Amino acid sequence: MPRIAYVNGRYVAHADASVHIEDRGYQFADGVYEVCEVARGFIVDMPRHLGRLNRSLSELSIDWPVTQAVLPLILREVVRRNHVVNGLVYVQVTRGVASRDFVFPAPGTRPSLVVTARKADPAAAIKRAETGIKVITVPENRWDRVDIKSTGLLPNVLAKQKAKEADAQEAWFVDGDGMVTEGGSSNAWIVTGDGVLVTRPAEHGILRGITRTTLFDVAAKLGVKIEERKFSVTEAKAAREAFISSATTIAMPIVAIDGAPVANGHPGSVTLSLRQAFFDVAEKSPA
Ligand code: PMP
Repeated sequence: MPRIAYVNGRYVAHADASVHIEDRGYQFADGVYEVCEVARGFIVDMPRHLGRLNRSLSELSIDWPVTQAVLPLILREVVRRNHVVNGLVYVQVTRGVASRDFVFPAPGTRPSLVVTARKADPAAAIKRAETGIKVITVPENRWDRVDIKSTGLLPNVLAKQKAKEADAQEAWFVDGDGMVTEGGSSNAWIVTGDGVLVTRPAEHGILRGITRTTLFDVAAKLGVKIEERKFSVTEAKAAREAFISSATTIAMPIVAIDGAPVANGHPGSVTLSLRQAFFDVAEKSPA
């Protein structure tokens, strides 16, 4: 069954899908993106993801490539044509194709839109959550607008590669004060000895994760308290639990930070209960 991608108005074979060499996404990373989880045939939290896409576009003064009403239909169609029941759908919008020049292209230049989808194995995710993941820490070296979900991800690429080379699955960025900002592709959380969730406020220095937002709803439902405040690497290493959140990992337990075990080195029960309750609480759009 060949994979299908949506590229600027056309559904094409994934293997042949391409954009112009002077697309500003390719030349300047002048674009934004979203990743939605697909679970049990539903696109998870799609309105929240498309709301954040709208914000990213407007912060960068990139026009919508299609109307806001049409994009959900394209996402659904790409998921459907690829027969994805569990997996993800990826949306990328760039400022379009223009002769290479730093300043914005002429008004009316059409933004580029690419949508792809791919399958994932839910059993592998369950297994990973049972084992937990390891993280390393790296110095924060990104610009101060990481609240925009830009395709400019070079620091994230390097951090996650470093994690992989250290046999870890995620890298946590740490600011100049020793405080954790977020992961290379996830938000960072700990659980205190009192069972309180702690995660960094989203005003500055992190991406406001959609999974993070929905986990606030999950925590409220489970009666788990959340404190939005910064936490240090030292506090995380001594925490009862630690975990990451993202659309593709949901709440994923951390069992080691920089080689030191978190608590007894096993996934924590609060993290697993949040993970368990997530799908019921999240908004589900039929694909
Ligand atoms: N922070 C960064 C840097 C990310 O790349 C991601 C994943 N897109 C997240 C946080 C988590 O965001 P979400 O829950 O919306 O996937």
